Amino acid sequence: MTKKKVLTELDEFSHSDLAITRESLYGTIAEPVYSGITSLFRRAYRKDLSGADVAVVGIPYDLSVSNRPGARFGPRAIRSASTQLSWGKAWGWGSDPFDKLAVVDWGDCVFDPGRSDRIPEEIEKQISAIVEQDVATLCLGGDHFITYPVLKAYAKKYPDIALIHFDAHCDTWRDEEGRVDHGTMFFHAAQEGIIDPSHSVQVGIRTHNKETHGFTVLSADIVRQQGITETIASILQVVGDRPCYLTFDIDCLDPAYAPGTGTPVVGGLSTAEALEILRGIAGVNLIGMDVVEVSPTYDVGEITSLAAATIAQNLLCLFAVKSSMSV
Ligand code: MN
Ligand code: MN
Repeated sequence: MTKKKVLTELDEFSHSDLAITRESLYGTIAEPVYSGITSLFRRAYRKDLSGADVAVVGIPYDLSVSNRPGARFGPRAIRSASTQLSWGKAWGWGSDPFDKLAVVDWGDCVFDPGRSDRIPEEIEKQISAIVEQDVATLCLGGDHFITYPVLKAYAKKYPDIALIHFDAHCDTWRDEEGRVDHGTMFFHAAQEGIIDPSHSVQVGIRTHNKETHGFTVLSADIVRQQGITETIASILQVVGDRPCYLTFDIDCLDPAYAPGTGTPVVGGLSTAEALEILRGIAGVNLIGMDVVEVSPTYDVGEITSLAAATIAQNLLCLFAVKSSMSV
């Protein structure tokens, strides 16, 4: 029997397809950016979650959009752009999240697009099966509606989830029960007690809704006026040490930084501002996270996919800080 070779840093650029060849779920080994199987950050591509802390899950669904479609291609584009970030540690954190976290790319949720009424239930079922194994998810949208069935899955384990919500849109517009819409799911989630608005915060908003439903709203203007440090303090104050889910709609960023999205709104955060806020809230009790609304057809030079991949990387860093605190 031949002994399996364990890859080390000395093997950099001597391997391809680490997604299926890596032995350990930990660590970072560089492989050529432009080739190989594009799992998120070259993590092991597998359905078996034994030993995993976080499962990356693509949710290629975009039937709830109100403007441009195409977010179903988001997971593939984010995975592809992530290869540009997979050779070293994340900027600004001082450590590699993959030294501490076992992250597996679980692949994509599967559902029948011809049975659109059944899709939310399917997503909830598939995410529930992961969360039940005590594995957190990093979901790649998909339009923003996907966060609703994902939160339903988390609600079975965590009551009164605090939501940290980055977006141009509040997504809390009043709606009738049962409608599937990427602008109303947090109204439903709040009404159903899945999330606790009094400990939830929305960052980067620049669309009107006369009702806040109890959410703290830090509009893009407020972020700009009060500055990043104050914004970080506000988020931490609202969320406290409650179990929180972080959802990042890429249209929180200005279209100059994220043109490839379905519902762009000008006057948004820069990528640098968003990353600084994410670094600043390290220590929050993160239970799950997602990046949504990347529509690659409208992207230019992978600007949006790379921004989404970088945000996903920073979310894993946030999760790694939380995990090392709870040990
Ligand atoms: Mn949204
Ligand atoms: Mn939005």
